[in-house]
Amino acid sequence: MIVNELFYSLQGEGSLAGVPSVFIRLAGCPLRCKWCDTKYAWDFAAGTEMSPDQLMQQIKDHPTRYVVLTGGEPLLSADLAPLTCLLHQHGCHVTVETSGIKCPTDLMADLVSISPKLANSAPLDGDTAKQHGLARFDPASLQCLIETYPYQLKFVVDVPADLDEIAECLGQLPEVDPYKVYLMPQAVRLEEYLQKSRWLADFCLQTGFSFSPRLQVMLWDNQRGK
Ligand code: SF4
Repeated sequence: MIVNELFYSLQGEGSLAGVPSVFIRLAGCPLRCKWCDTKYAWDFAAGTEMSPDQLMQQIKDHPTRYVVLTGGEPLLSADLAPLTCLLHQHGCHVTVETSGIKCPTDLMADLVSISPKLANSAPLDGDTAKQHGLARFDPASLQCLIETYPYQLKFVVDVPADLDEIAECLGQLPEVDPYKVYLMPQAVRLEEYLQKSRWLADFCLQTGFSFSPRLQVMLWDNQRGK
């Protein structure tokens, strides 16, 4: 598999926020979201070929058993299932982060953290936006992931109107447990994060959805490798 980067940090989002974790970022994502903070990992060749054994050697250098496979879109990477198997053999807790556009059923994942993309992520370029619109929300894959794995659903919210779209999405996924739904503000910088967090927190209190922090923005201003 092509590894874009490997680093040690705190999980910034969702139910495991704050847990020291090794992040393995796999190369390649076809969606091209306009506010993506890992554009350097879009290209499927943007990295170095590494085997599961080579990755395991590097993971062992860090004082945690929590490993996060992220991207890019890791579900499009070859050899993901053998890597999750090896990680489990070494006692690791495995989170797979995905936009939910595909559903392999052979992973050994303790948590699949699904972040379906809303219209607020559409690229500005017309052709790319069209591809993005066709691919970004796939109810069949999402349903499959939800049925197959322990999961959480994380939505990136930019403006209050996005909340209506989230309700529509959840309407197409009736089996989703609302207590596994997390909402987090779309923000690259701390000031924007805090401003959007206030109204989003109020919405979470009204609905019972969980508010997800984004520690990578709060603590490190989205610095790469943090
Ligand atoms: S799905 Fe994730 S990695 Fe892919 S372009 Fe969108 S934000 Fe970036």
